[in-house]
Amino acid sequence: MKKPSIQLVKYNDEVFKAVFKNVPVEITNSLRRVMMAEVPTIAVEEVIIFKNDGFLNDDSLAHRLGLIPLKTDIGTVRRLREGDGYVTLNLKVAARTTERTVYSGDLKSRDRAVGPVSDKIEIAKLAPGQAIEAEMWAVPGIGEEHAKWSPVTVAVARGVPKIRLAKEIPQDVAKGLVEVCPKNVFEAKGGEVRIVDITRCTVCGICEEKYGEFVKIGIDEGSSILYFESVGQLTTKEILDEAFNILLSKLDEFKNKFMEVELDVA
Ligand code: SF4
Repeated sequence: MKKPSIQLVKYNDEVFKAVFKNVPVEITNSLRRVMMAEVPTIAVEEVIIFKNDGFLNDDSLAHRLGLIPLKTDIGTVRRLREGDGYVTLNLKVAARTTERTVYSGDLKSRDRAVGPVSDKIEIAKLAPGQAIEAEMWAVPGIGEEHAKWSPVTVAVARGVPKIRLAKEIPQDVAKGLVEVCPKNVFEAKGGEVRIVDITRCTVCGICEEKYGEFVKIGIDEGSSILYFESVGQLTTKEILDEAFNILLSKLDEFKNKFMEVELDVA
């Protein structure tokens, strides 16, 4: 197997995009699936409603509260999984003389390490004189149980596009390639066509269809592109770290089981 390498294209707490050279799509896709379904986060699971005068019925209110993404860190998730169990949050809002919108920012968490990802998520509207009072228990869970625990929004693993350009490209074709590509993959400078960012290519084939004499499109499944966005509960680094840990522990478990079988046969 050729030596793997990673080329980061975009990386911050919310977005991760990289080319994994010599890492087949099957491996990055396993990571993607673990991220979506098995990396744990925290979400509201139990709601006790003491008062709800608003137009939203109790069930809908509880459902909305359950879907509010809660920011935390992987250490807190582990602490809750290993013993502490849950974090309590409270909501106590009253509209006195004017209409009032209840936002996620109105939630008060008893654990400073846990709170809404955004303060601007609308929960309900209250008319003058109405109020909501509720207590919630947020618990750790995984996306496989319910999507509210999944830490990623978009998560894509795919092969790396292969674009072969002819050595000599006439100026009108160069201009045409730049114009025809819907993803701005090409740039024409000084009579030469350059690939700006191969990860933008969706392998749609439009350029080849029009200028097949000068460009050939393929896909390299032996290398891969991994792209994902965090919902906000965890950083992209925490999500990736945890996905690797889970995948490696699964492989360890698989290896141990396999060795047991081998020993039995012997
Ligand atoms: S295959 Fe589509 S996206 Fe890729 S370079 Fe050609 S036109 Fe652009």
